[in-house]
Amino acid sequence: MTDFDVVIIGGGVGGLTLALKLAQANIHVLVIEKANQPGKIYKGELLQPKSLENFSEMGVVEEIVANSWPLATIHTYEMKERKDGSLRTELYIPLHYHRLYSSFPSARMIPHEKLKELLLFKAKTYHSFTYWNPATFQDFSKINEENNEFNEATIYYKSGYRRITSSFFVGAEGRVSLMRKAMKEHGVTTHYNHQFLTVTFPRPEVFKEARMYATHREFIGLFPLPDNKVRSVMLIKPGDYKRMKDEGLHTFYEPFERFVPELSGYLESITSWKDIQLMIPIRHKTQQYVKGNAAIIGDAAHTVHPMAGEGMNMAIQDGAILGELLTWMYKEGTRQPQYLKLYEKVRKKRADRMSHLSHLSAMAYTWPARWYQQGRMFALKRLERHPVLHDKHMLNISGIGWWPYNGLDILRFFGLAKAYSLKRLKKKQWENIYSSHDDYPWKAK
Ligand SMILES: Cc1cc2nc3c(=O)[nH]c(=O)nc-3n(C[C@H](O)[C@H](O)[C@H](O)COP(=O)(O)OP(=O)(O)OC[C@H]3O[C@@H](n4cnc5c(N)ncnc54)[C@H](O)[C@@H]3O)c2cc1C
Repeated sequence: MTDFDVVIIGGGVGGLTLALKLAQANIHVLVIEKANQPGKIYKGELLQPKSLENFSEMGVVEEIVANSWPLATIHTYEMKERKDGSLRTELYIPLHYHRLYSSFPSARMIPHEKLKELLLFKAKTYHSFTYWNPATFQDFSKINEENNEFNEATIYYKSGYRRITSSFFVGAEGRVSLMRKAMKEHGVTTHYNHQFLTVTFPRPEVFKEARMYATHREFIGLFPLPDNKVRSVMLIKPGDYKRMKDEGLHTFYEPFERFVPELSGYLESITSWKDIQLMIPIRHKTQQYVKGNAAIIGDAAHTVHPMAGEGMNMAIQDGAILGELLTWMYKEGTRQPQYLKLYEKVRKKRADRMSHLSHLSAMAYTWPARWYQQGRMFALKRLERHPVLHDKHMLNISGIGWWPYNGLDILRFFGLAKAYSLKRLKKKQWENIYSSHDDYPWKAK
């Protein structure tokens, strides 16, 4: 008899999604979270349609919708700099979520801490949910090396060390994962030649849409949040942060005001560099997400470049799939740890694809050169104007399915392939949406 059925280390979005799912199935779950107050650092805020579908299945989507801002279209502007430094739009590309067959055909922006608060609030309504906070996972005090089973963990909670036993342990502690270390998983890390500055500030009421602006040497993104706020990102070169801090806050305001003059006056509400966060993107891929009776989810398993806004969604979708699997294992009385591998089977392939897509999105803005911008504009134009490429892209980033890229796409890219009829296009998209069997293949067993 163990103290808990499942212990989750880390109460971030991934850990809380999993915990809620388990609590709803009356599985005794303990979440250990070390932060004793809402995090001050900016994290993911963009929810993709698949995450909204997952939250809908968990009966928590209404609260999330009420506290978030819809993004039906991502508007991308490629700009040219005139000799006098002013800007003109060279290319405008809208990418539409409404092309998707989803009950949630839009992305939504929600403050990261608000989402966690809503998930935690809901989870606390279930008796089988236990939350230790602040509490820190230290290490495993008992491991059975023969069958790779983790039997007992040491947790620092309420001024003392406690030893707890559990049937399953899940590492959801983000990038620096002690669980991953205990599993002796290392993986591969990619570093990038750029960094980001990010901050949320008030927006004019009329600024309602997600917009990304780029010249051959600059990139900024603006994503509206509820309560007339907007989350901003600015791409910078390593070293720029220090230089900008030395020169003054105007170096941060100016690019935004140049691209979006209606933001003048709003940025000035940021009065200290302390409010602006430096974000150093990395990509980390782990080979195995499961070992014995332990699993890792979210950033602990895979960290992705933030350009495509997928990191938080991958953590949520890991939590939803692993939660559904554990629920099934408990319901069917099949609690052998080897079943956990089914979570890895479903999620690893999807996470690797998303990681690659995010990497490609990052590469599109990596080199500050005019020829590079020309190439990006050509690619963006073809992506938007060819219905198959547009639908494929939106389906793939939304997480609701995967429409594989193939040789014909190269012809489509150059305008050489015949377009599908609308009926065929719809059918193709439909065929590539994940079915319940794709998401939960064990249920058919
Ligand atoms: C600076 C930054 C900016 C980002 N921006 C974006 C973005 O714009 N778009 C996007 O999609 N993604 C973004 N991401 C990524 C996204 O936020 C993450 O992918 C997502 O938060 C991962 O969720 P998670 O639950 O796996 O981990 P986390 O959100 O990192 O949560 C892990 C939790 O575990 C706790 N913890 C850690 N160690 C222990 C321990 N030993 N004991 C107990 N608790 C512990 C931590 O306190 C934390 O609450 C960003 C990430 C960072 C760091």
